[in-house]
Amino acid sequence: AGILEVTDLSKTYRDGEVLAEVLKGISFSVAPGEFVAIQGPSGAGKSTLLNLLGALDKPDTGRIVVDGLELTADIKNERVERFRRDKIGFIFQNHYLMQEFTVLENVMLPLRVQGFTTAAAKEKAAHALERIGLGHRMHHFPSQISGGESQRVAVARAVVKNPALILADEPTGNLDSENRERFIGVLNALQAEDKLTIIVVTHESELAMAASRRLHMKDGKIDWPVG
Ligand code: ADP
Ligand code: ADP
Repeated sequence: AGILEVTDLSKTYRDGEVLAEVLKGISFSVAPGEFVAIQGPSGAGKSTLLNLLGALDKPDTGRIVVDGLELTADIKNERVERFRRDKIGFIFQNHYLMQEFTVLENVMLPLRVQGFTTAAAKEKAAHALERIGLGHRMHHFPSQISGGESQRVAVARAVVKNPALILADEPTGNLDSENRERFIGVLNALQAEDKLTIIVVTHESELAMAASRRLHMKDGKIDWPVG
């Protein structure tokens, strides 16, 4: 079985009188340890799909099962919170680090939310930062490190709790080519060592080519590979 099973997802947004059918029956599955890139033109529904997978938004119809936990349209909010906390690591285009916390504290946050003690969270977070070459930045504040480093801290924050699924929306969109390469290197290394399951939405061919599988979306559907 896949670690992610998506069956016939649909999503329509209403803007006043206008209905926009943004996802029109999306089905696919992802095996543990796969690194999937979702490509396609702007407006195809890629971010909407990723937001549904990460339970930031709810589908109108269809089924999402992540690591045995099912997300449906009528799921209770409390269960959604738990799903997001335990199963999903999100990486956005902007790192969204908390400016008033150090790098180490930022990476500790998801562990504290899960109930780890401060000491245990500190140890795990420091280890995650060291593994991606940022051990020397632990006690800096986000304003004291570069954009490329910040985005790698966001990776550490996403992976530190060992989630079933890492979701990334245009994670290299604000990086220059050198930092993009490093970012991809970090993802590939973590995927190889930890068997992480990663889904990225990207316009960048370099990142898409680093994935083990590519899906293409157009007009609310997966149009390649053809079903
Ligand atoms: P992509 O990520 O492929 O560029 P999106 O998923 O961001 O596509 O958007 C797909 C379509 O859904 C777009 O036409 C967008 O305007 C619309 N859309 C996305 N989010 C919302 C929302 N919250 N309310 C209304 N329309 C939305
Ligand atoms: P785009 O893909 O158009 O550049 P963004 O990267 O700003 O859009 O955001 C992608 C989606 O993720 C949006 O639908 C936005 O609502 C959501 N999002 C962005 N940042 C956060 C956040 N920190 N917490 C929750 N949702 C977020």
